[in-house]
Amino acid sequence: MKKMLILFCFFSILIFGEDNYKKKIIYSGVSSEKAIALTFDDGPDSTNTVKVLDILKKNDVKATFFLLGQNINQTTSALVQRIYDEGHVIGNHSYTHGLFYNKGEDAVSREITKTQEVIKKVIGKEPALFRPPYGAVSKTMVDYCSSQSIKVINWNVDTNDWRKTISSDDMVKTITSGASSNRIVLMHTMRHLSKTPDALEVVIPILKNQGFSIITLDKLLGVEPYKN
Ligand SMILES: [Zn+2]
Repeated sequence: MKKMLILFCFFSILIFGEDNYKKKIIYSGVSSEKAIALTFDDGPDSTNTVKVLDILKKNDVKATFFLLGQNINQTTSALVQRIYDEGHVIGNHSYTHGLFYNKGEDAVSREITKTQEVIKKVIGKEPALFRPPYGAVSKTMVDYCSSQSIKVINWNVDTNDWRKTISSDDMVKTITSGASSNRIVLMHTMRHLSKTPDALEVVIPILKNQGFSIITLDKLLGVEPYKN
């Protein structure tokens, strides 16, 4: 019996230890105000990122953009600068958007570091927020991010805006239903997703009428957005 108990404790520690990294993955905010964060992944692109920025500016709303390193080049760097200059927060969404979560630390580090470098080259700062492609996480990834003082951020409201079957009305309903605070909303700015700006245009006034402050992720989480 004693042996069984020791064995049980041993495996519990093993399993608990293995799963402990999951607690570090962030899905919602901690703000004490009635707040929500809108996040846009996969930019920058010169079509929808511009449309989204124009709508945010018109409504005086700040958001968070998780950018792909491979999309940042001479053509789009002015757009990255614009995102920053207009008071939005820039996060790291990997370099290639590959499914590398189950690879070793070398691959994880390469994807994250290369993107940190290209973002820093434009805005002079390295993000302290990372969103894994597809939201796919692993212990290696989370441990690596922790070692670099980078927080891993997923979401708790998925608009599914990348699906062809989802309309902008569907997106608005998803974002506005279940009016709880501290939600992190996932959207995208890929070129072909024209319904996302349409939904944004409609949803901002609704959220404001519901009494929400629409704020950047760092504020919703009470953390620093950049490392330096
Ligand atoms: Zn993505």
